[in-house]
Amino acid sequence: MILKTILLAFVLGSWLTASAQCCSSCPHHTSPNTHHPSPNTHHPTPNTHHPTPIALSQWQAGAIVSEADIEAFGGLEKCFAAEEIPDAVWQRMQGKTYKTNPHIGRADLRHIRTLHWDYDGRIHVGEMVSNKLIADRLVRIFRQLYDAHYPIQQMLLPDVYDADDETQMRHNNSSCFCYRVVAGSTKLSKHARGLAVDINTLYNPYYKDRADGTRFIQPATAAQYCNRTGSFPYKIDKQDLCYKLFTENGFEWGGDWKTCKDFQHFELIE
Ligand SMILES: [Zn+2]
Repeated sequence: MILKTILLAFVLGSWLTASAQCCSSCPHHTSPNTHHPSPNTHHPTPNTHHPTPIALSQWQAGAIVSEADIEAFGGLEKCFAAEEIPDAVWQRMQGKTYKTNPHIGRADLRHIRTLHWDYDGRIHVGEMVSNKLIADRLVRIFRQLYDAHYPIQQMLLPDVYDADDETQMRHNNSSCFCYRVVAGSTKLSKHARGLAVDINTLYNPYYKDRADGTRFIQPATAAQYCNRTGSFPYKIDKQDLCYKLFTENGFEWGGDWKTCKDFQHFELIE
C-alpha cells in the first residue's frame, strides 16, 4: 500500500512537471514576443485566443482594429514601417497617382504602413506613399502621433478616389504622393515628388484670396474651417503636435505662408 502511494505520487509529480513544461511549445503562441514563460500567470484558454486579423495581415487601409488585434499580429513595431512599393500597390497607382514620367520612378518611392487614432478613439489601418528621402521620418512621426493618440480620420492612398484631390479632401483623407505638375506650368509640385504630406484635409483647407475679392477654397466644402479662431476637431495650429513634429523634422507648414494658406500641408525644406 505504501509502495503504491509512493508510485502514484511519483507518476503524478512527473505529469505535473510535464504539464508545466508544455508552455514552451504551446501551439497557442504564434509569436515569441508575446510568449509569457511563467506557468503561474499563463492562462491559455481558447476563449481568449485572438487570431491574426486579415485587416492587418493583408494591410487593409481604412479598417478599424483593436489593441488585441495588434498584439495578435505581432505588436506595434510591425505596424509602423516603410518598404519598397509592393506589386499590388504599384498596380493600384498606375494611371492614378502614378503616371509614366522622366522625373520620379518606383525606386524613388516607399510604401508606408501606419496605424492612427481617429477623434472617436478608434484605431485605423493607414497607408501612404512617399519619397524614400522622407519615408523613415514619416514612420517615426506617425508612431509618435499614434503614441499620443493624435486624431487622424483617414489615411488611404488617393488612388481610392482616382487621385482626385478635391474628392479626397472632402473625405478628410491624409496623403502624400500624387504625380502632377503645378497648374499652368511644367513645375512639379512637392506632392508629385512625394515630399509633401497633407493631414486631415477637410478641417485644414487651402485657400487663396483673389484680386477680385473672392476666395478660392480647397476643398470647396471647407469654407467654415478657413476661420481658424474657433476650436474644432482635427484642427492644426501652432500648438498642435502634428505641427510640432513635422517642423522639428525639416518640414515647413503651409499655414505659415503669406500669399495663401494651406493648413493641411507640410513639405520638406530643400
Ligand atoms: Zn499639400
